Amino acid sequence: MRYDVCDRCGVKIPEGGLKYIVRIDIVADDDNIIPEDITDEELDAMISGIKEFDPDMLERDVHQELAFILCKRCKEQFTRDPFNTMKDKLNIDEGWSGELH
Ligand SMILES: [Zn+2]
Repeated sequence: MRYDVCDRCGVKIPEGGLKYIVRIDIVADDDNIIPEDITDEELDAMISGIKEFDPDMLERDVHQELAFILCKRCKEQFTRDPFNTMKDKLNIDEGWSGELH
């Protein structure tokens, strides 16, 4: 039987099962790529510096698209704390330290 795998926890999601696709579109803030008050010499230096980079790496630096499959549980956790800052866990820890006093 065909199945997908949750990219976060590894659980198998059977074909037709509930799953979510998380698409992440990372785009460089182009305000910061070329300063407005740049001189021609600085621009030339910047361009020659860029030529030394691998074009694929340069493309990833400016724009990158990622996609992940998540199960329902991981989707709930991801939407609550996408960067895994453990905010929920910190609240629990504070509660525990409160009990010690
Ligand atoms: Zn999962």
